[in-house]
Amino acid sequence: MSSLTQTLRNAVQKIIPSKKPSYRIFDIELKQRIEISPSLTRFVFTGPEVQLMNTLAPDQRVKMLFPGTDGVAPQLPHDGNWHQTLRSLAPENKPPMRTYTIRALRREQAEVDVEFVLHGETGPASSWATHARPGDRLQMVAPDGAQGGDPGGYEWQPPAGIRHVLLIGDETALPAIAGILEQLSDWPQPPQVQAFIEVPHATDRQQIRQPANAQVNWLVRDELGLGHGEGMRRAALELATLPESAARAAKPQKLAEVDVDTQILWDRARSADQEFYAWVAGESAAVMTIRRHLVGELGLDKRALTFMGYWRLGRVLD
Ligand SMILES: Cc1cc2nc3c(=O)[nH]c(=O)nc-3n(C[C@H](O)[C@H](O)[C@H](O)COP(=O)(O)OP(=O)(O)OC[C@H]3O[C@@H](n4cnc5c(N)ncnc54)[C@H](O)[C@@H]3O)c2cc1C
Repeated sequence: MSSLTQTLRNAVQKIIPSKKPSYRIFDIELKQRIEISPSLTRFVFTGPEVQLMNTLAPDQRVKMLFPGTDGVAPQLPHDGNWHQTLRSLAPENKPPMRTYTIRALRREQAEVDVEFVLHGETGPASSWATHARPGDRLQMVAPDGAQGGDPGGYEWQPPAGIRHVLLIGDETALPAIAGILEQLSDWPQPPQVQAFIEVPHATDRQQIRQPANAQVNWLVRDELGLGHGEGMRRAALELATLPESAARAAKPQKLAEVDVDTQILWDRARSADQEFYAWVAGESAAVMTIRRHLVGELGLDKRALTFMGYWRLGRVLD
């Protein structure tokens, strides 16, 4: 960049202050680990500024920063430029970063819960979670409650007056689905809910507070002899009952293929006036199949459907 361009940019920034970042770095320390089931462990974190954190929806996503290979806790500066700082670090100095869901935030107690799938020691997040002990320190990039406003970072945005909800996910989406069911159970007139949750073992089933009329179906991989994502696929292809209100698109929709081995599959529902709303998240190839089926084969209006590839079997995409 020329010095003239830089001078002009500095001058403009003085007149129009740049928009404040809405996600920021939090230093956190593990307070407690609670084994919820064989595959999912809840980590209760605390930290001096957790009282200033915010969460706006049950699928609020955050970035977790883990110790590098030297085992040293991440120490990104709190200067509002975490993203640029991270990008400028040499690969060997970059703390590994992965995406997780805020399961609960108790601001008054300065506590935030994140639930990790323990899938072995193949990635930095799961390896950390397998060995973590109270007192271990991490960093989290999360919405800054001190600024107020809506920083985004969540997709669960059902239209007002929604009558039918379809939720499909695997164990990585279970923290979000559990939060969604809990939220819906507090609605005075909850919609009809069909949820399909794929988990590894029978003992991974959880008691979740849910609307009285909700149908929650657990697809247990080792009981059914299924591989990753097959329970989710089966749910969409064979088990889900789509209501009449699930709007079909008026004309054929373009469905861009996503190469889930190299790209993140992420489609947001956009309509505010549908009666039916589907939220699908989990292993990316499974989510892709479900997308093809609901949009490509059944012709459902894609504006009522959210599809998110949370992770890809055999790949590292974060
Ligand atoms: C918006 C969003 C929210 C998410 N919320 C959660 C959450 O609350 N809890 C949660 O546990 N995960 C969540 N995930 C998924 C999580 O980010 C990934 O599973 C991530 O890859 C884990 O990082 P890792 O370091 O353990 O493994 P990586 O280094 O990313 O991957 C290493 C290897 O492990 C495999 N792998 C990754 N995840 C799994 C898995 N779950 N089961 C089996 N093999 C796996 C990969 O395919 C790869 O071969 C979320 C993802 C997104 C995008």
